[in-house]
Amino acid sequence: MNTPLPGHDLPQPGWHWRNSFAELGPDFYAPLAPQPLPQPYLVGHSAAAARLIDLTPAALQTPAWQDILAGNQLPAGGQPLASVYSGHQFGVWAGQLGDGRAILLGELAPQPGQPGVAQELQLKGSGLTPFSRMGDGRAVLRSSIREFLCSEAMHALDVPTTRALCIMGSDQPVYREQPETAAVVARMAPSFIRFGHFEHFCHTGQHAQLRQLADYVIDRFYPACRTDNRFGGNAYAALLQAVTGRTAQLMAQWQAIGFCHGVMNTDNMSILGLTIDYGPFQFLDAYDPGHICNHSDHQGRYAFHKQPGVAYWNLYCLGQALLPLIGEQEQAIAALETYKTLYPQAFAARMAAKLGFSQAPDGLQALVDEVLRLMAADRVDYTIFWRRLSHWARQPSLADTSVRDLFLDSAGIERWLLQFSEHVAQPASGFFADLMLRTNPKFVLRNHLGELAIQAARAKDFSVVAQLLDVLERPFDEHPAFEAYADFPPDWAGSIAISCSS
Ligand code: AMP
Ligand code: MG
Repeated sequence: MNTPLPGHDLPQPGWHWRNSFAELGPDFYAPLAPQPLPQPYLVGHSAAAARLIDLTPAALQTPAWQDILAGNQLPAGGQPLASVYSGHQFGVWAGQLGDGRAILLGELAPQPGQPGVAQELQLKGSGLTPFSRMGDGRAVLRSSIREFLCSEAMHALDVPTTRALCIMGSDQPVYREQPETAAVVARMAPSFIRFGHFEHFCHTGQHAQLRQLADYVIDRFYPACRTDNRFGGNAYAALLQAVTGRTAQLMAQWQAIGFCHGVMNTDNMSILGLTIDYGPFQFLDAYDPGHICNHSDHQGRYAFHKQPGVAYWNLYCLGQALLPLIGEQEQAIAALETYKTLYPQAFAARMAAKLGFSQAPDGLQALVDEVLRLMAADRVDYTIFWRRLSHWARQPSLADTSVRDLFLDSAGIERWLLQFSEHVAQPASGFFADLMLRTNPKFVLRNHLGELAIQAARAKDFSVVAQLLDVLERPFDEHPAFEAYADFPPDWAGSIAISCSS
């Protein structure tokens, strides 16, 4: 379908291309080159992501790499492909989906003895594939900037995520609600395998391939499952448990940081427990537990407070898909059940750290529940609250009104601040004000900040993308020159509407 391209000799010394996913065989993908992106230009790049594969920013900007990252040349040694997966979308079985606009170029691996972790390199928005269905295979500049910035911001917040190496833009028009322009995000992750890959092979009755996929994932990413005796030596039940554990951790991090994903379909759930597929996501501004960030989500299935429950539902789908391998339903259920303790534990640990405690103190849950209730009642800004509280806690005093000023219910928050300071004052409470400042970021990628970068980039000014990236890569630092990025959202932020798949 796409134009085959001559190979380019790369990569940098010490690294080589390998194609372990492609080696699974043709049932797993369609071999396919990206569609060239006309007259591409670099919109933004992450030096930190490039370091993962020992690529310097200078090398990334050479014509050879730029050609590859736009999809206009193939790396010699890569085996480009679009993978097939299925999934449940908005709670309904959607059947076959697959990489409709992403091409996996291959996997960059360190030479034996060389430090580093192999990274798959995928181009998102790189043209039609056999799985494009009604889509055009492209991504627009707007959503590419959002994905690029948020991937790197999440990493800096210590939240597991796919990474983003760069954005290549083009003036090629792409039609959404209005004409926009095309862009390609070069993403990296050790693997882009989703729950939906397993669902695909289960639901189509391809159980040999299902086993092959599970063995591949276990051998590469979860080798301890082979020796885990908790499930009577059943490595597939152990895999389900391991993914359940990672997903529980991820959900606790999303909830603690105030991140709403927006499209938690099973095809958007990473088997490695990474945040993947940034679409209509949003960091909360005002704290509203029922916040829905996806304008296509009319039922609020993916509202902020529903995320941990949806993750559990999605894990059930994964469990169902692994059942032909696990064999015993009880073992699958036992693996899934661990979520019910792992998620609350992980969430409690995250919230304890937000309050500055190295270990969850007695009475933590009541303290957390009450402050979230007060914040929800007054729609207090989530990020600003935690940051101000982090400063307040260095010298707790009701004379300092910086936190109280965020609330209408002054008596309620003062009562809570007193309770919190009693916990802080307890000897051996394990309280560290510095932990709060290292846990509660000053900067998150609010929708309106992304919008500022997008508007400038549309006018070919890519400096805001770079500035925002710089700030978001160190979200716990003060960055006095960028104080405005830490401020409340402007009124127009409420009018930004974002739906799926742009
Ligand atoms: P998403 O909601 O972005 O996770 O996408 C769901 C499915 O739709 C996946 O199979 C995507 O590859 C596919 N898709 C989304 N946007 C497009 C597009 N513009 N062209 C082709 N396929 C797309
Ligand atoms: Mg997706």
